[in-house]
Amino acid sequence: MDIIRISGLNYSVEELSPDEMNGNIGLADFNRQRIMINSTFSNQTKIIARWHEMIHIIDTVYGTKLTEEQVVTLTHGILAVFLDNPGLLETLNKY
Ligand SMILES: [Zn+2]
Repeated sequence: MDIIRISGLNYSVEELSPDEMNGNIGLADFNRQRIMINSTFSNQTKIIARWHEMIHIIDTVYGTKLTEEQVVTLTHGILAVFLDNPGLLETLNKY
């Protein structure tokens, strides 16, 4: 189980069975600080689901009221920036 800190709160990231996930790929529980990922999907899909749920949490925290389509678009856009720039975090940490 991983921990991801979002806006001052620690969220656990847990992989659960398809039954526990009720068929969903990913779920976010803002009130229990949990991100749940369906364990049966590929690692690439799990990464996408993790980002997707993180964006849902950010949306909830800041009240931006994103649509599901906007969450999907931001998920893939932000993920592409990180994948296309493997040293990005290291560069950002210099400043
Ligand atoms: Zn969603």
